[in-house]
Order: sequence, then structure tokens, then C-alpha cells
Amino acid sequence: MNIVSVESYEDVSRRAADLFAQQLKRKPASLFVLPTGNTPQGMFKEIIARAKAGKLDASQARFAVLDEYAGLEPGDRRSLTDWLWRALLAPLGVGDDRVIAFDPRGKPETECAAMERAISKAGGVDLAVLGLGPNGHLGMNEPGTPFDMATCYVPLTPETIRSNAVYWGSEADVPRTGFTLGLGTLRAARSFLLLVSGAHKADILARVVAGPANTALPATIVHLHPSATIIADRAAWPANSPSIEA
Ligand code: PGA
Repeated sequence: MNIVSVESYEDVSRRAADLFAQQLKRKPASLFVLPTGNTPQGMFKEIIARAKAGKLDASQARFAVLDEYAGLEPGDRRSLTDWLWRALLAPLGVGDDRVIAFDPRGKPETECAAMERAISKAGGVDLAVLGLGPNGHLGMNEPGTPFDMATCYVPLTPETIRSNAVYWGSEADVPRTGFTLGLGTLRAARSFLLLVSGAHKADILARVVAGPANTALPATIVHLHPSATIIADRAAWPANSPSIEA
């Protein structure tokens, strides 16, 4: 695991966009897993700006959406897939045929297997980009999830419902169940990138970095992944903590 310690949120976003661009250079048709949430928004803006300036070519890139609430009707403002479209995919001009996403109204028994099949048919994930949940979750993989878990249908924990309330107004607005790429699916990604920003993430990040890998903190999967990078700003990874390469 490698921690890249940078000064500010803007630096996190730029470094993350650098890794995205490097991956595209190596393999233009890379499959990226991307999250929603607040953390990756700066990275998305940076990618769009570079693409518009002709500095980055994502015209062959493919994308899989990390997670989605279950049961939403089309057009529901809370769709995570739609959020990713608005924030990145539409501005980049990505076509439907390059996006793998959950059908929020899919049946749990079939939807998760269909997602796994689509990812494996696409040749597997090249780079999985993740945000860090305040309880250590990754996507909707909550504490206690086995590290080899396949893509699954899950109840959200009270803590995740609380933290997701900031996106939609109140806890009552947060759906209670969702679909998420599994920890096993994320672990199988060729590269793994965790973005962390802000003082409110400092304690959880310190616990994740301290390890060892334990299912009580899903993000400790970084200790098991052969090519995992964490990019954190100074508020989340205080300056007196060293950069770590292990
Ligand atoms: P955030 O969410 O990026 O909005 O902090 C991360 C998460 O809860 O997974």
C-alpha cells in the first residue's frame, strides 16, 4: 500500500486525475470503477477540464458505477448512476455503450450476477476509484462484509444513512437498501485508488492505515491489494504522519 500525502483537496483531485490519465495512456479502453459522494467531485472536474483542453483522451474509456440505491424509479433525483452521469460521464461525452451500471429496479437475485458478468465480459476492472466511508465502508460494503464478497444487494447501516443524508436533505430521503460492487470484485481490480479528504476522515483513515486487514473496516482491504494507493490531504492525514510505502 502506498500513501500519497498532499496539501489540499485540490491536490488530491489533481493527483487522482493524474493516475486516471496515466491509466488511459497505458490502456485507452481501460475499465474504471467510479464512486459518487463528495470526495471524487474535484477529480471529475479536473478530468473534464483536461479532456476539454485536449490534454486527456477518454474517448475509449469504459466505466462501471460502484453502487446504486435499490428500488428507485427512473428519473429519481437520488440515483447515484445519474449523479455520475451529470458529474462526469455526460460532460465527457461518454456513450451508454461504455457504461456498466445497476438497474435500481433489478431483482437482487439476478441484478448482482448480471453486473459481475458484465464486468468480467469487459475484461475486468483496470482501476477502481473509491471514497472512504466515515465507518470505513467502501461503496455500500459495510463493516462485517467478507473481503471475498461478490457484488450484492445490501441494507444500508444507520451510519451510512446518516452520512448519505447530506446528499439528499434528510435521513428520511435516503433509500434503505442498495446494490454495490462487492469487496471481492474491487479487490480483483488491477489497481485500487482510495481518495480521502478532510479532518472528519482523519480518525478513520488512521485506523485503516494502521491495519491489519480486518472485516470490521472494509477499507483495510488496501492491505491485501497488491497495487493500492491512498491519496489523502493534510487534514485527513496530518503532516506529522509519514507517507508510507509498503
Ligand atoms: P464522501 O462519501 O465522498 O461524500 O465523503 C464517501 C463514502 O461515504 O463512501
